[in-house]
Amino acid sequence: MGGRESELVLLDENGIRCDGRKVDEPRRIMIKAGGLKNADGSAYIEFGDNKILVGVFGPRDVHPKHMSNTDTGILRVRYHMEPFSVSERKNPAPSRREIEISKVIKEALQPAVILDKFPRTAVDVFIEVLQADGGTRCAALSAASVALADAGIPMRDMVAACAAGKVADTVVLDVNNEEDQAGQADMPIGYMPNLKKITLLQLDGVLTPEEYKKCIETGIIGCKIVYDLQKKALHDKYFGSGGEQ
Ligand code: ADP
Repeated sequence: MGGRESELVLLDENGIRCDGRKVDEPRRIMIKAGGLKNADGSAYIEFGDNKILVGVFGPRDVHPKHMSNTDTGILRVRYHMEPFSVSERKNPAPSRREIEISKVIKEALQPAVILDKFPRTAVDVFIEVLQADGGTRCAALSAASVALADAGIPMRDMVAACAAGKVADTVVLDVNNEEDQAGQADMPIGYMPNLKKITLLQLDGVLTPEEYKKCIETGIIGCKIVYDLQKKALHDKYFGSGGEQ
C-alpha cells in the first residue's frame, strides 16, 4: 500500500480510475461451469485479467487416512499460481502466500458445504491461477463455489466474492493489481447472498470506521453481481444457453 501513488493517477478529476472504470464498476467478469472431464466438478473464471481454473474431486477416500473424520467429510483446498501467471516467473514451489490463500478460501467455503452425509471422505478443490492481476483470491473463491455446485456437493448457498478498497481517499469496488499496490486499502469479501453471511473478510491497509462500513457495503454489491453470474454459469451448463456447439 502507498508509495507509487504520485506516479500513477488512481482517480482523475472526473472520478475515473486508472483502468477507465467508475468507482462502483467491477472489471469484466466471465464464469463458465464445467470444462474438465476428469474432475467431478469444475469452473473457469475470468475476472478482469485474472484467469483461473478450478477442479473439484470427491467426495472420495482420504489419503492419508488419519486425516479422515468419522463424523463428516472434510474439505481440502489448494490454491496454486502457475509460474507464468505473473510477469516475473514465480517459483513453482508453494509460497507462504499460496498456503495462506488456500487456508482462507477453505475457511470461506466451509460454511457453504454440507459434508456430514459423507463421513470418512474428502472433497478436494484444486485452484490453478493461469494469469493473475490482483484479486485472485476473490475470483478463485467465486469459481470454486461454482465448481463445488457443479460437482453436486450439497450446499447451503454459493459464496460469491469481490473486493472493495480505497484509492485516492475514495472507496472503490473491485481493486485491480495497480490499485492494490499503489492504493490505500484492499478488502476482499466473500459473501453468501441468500443467507446474508460474510465468510471471508480481510483488510490490507487503514480505513476510518465510516470507510470500513462503506467498503463492506460496496464489496457486498460486487458479490451480488458475481452471484448472478455464478447462477447464470450453472444455468447455462445444465439448462443450455443455446449459444455453443
Ligand atoms: P490477491 O490476488 O487475492 O489480490 P495479493 O493481494 O496477495 O492477493 O496479490 C495481489 C496480486 O499481486 C496478485 O493478484 C498478483 O497479480 C500479484 N502477485 C502475487 N504474487 C506474485 C508474485 N510472486 N510475483 C508477481 N506478482 C505477484
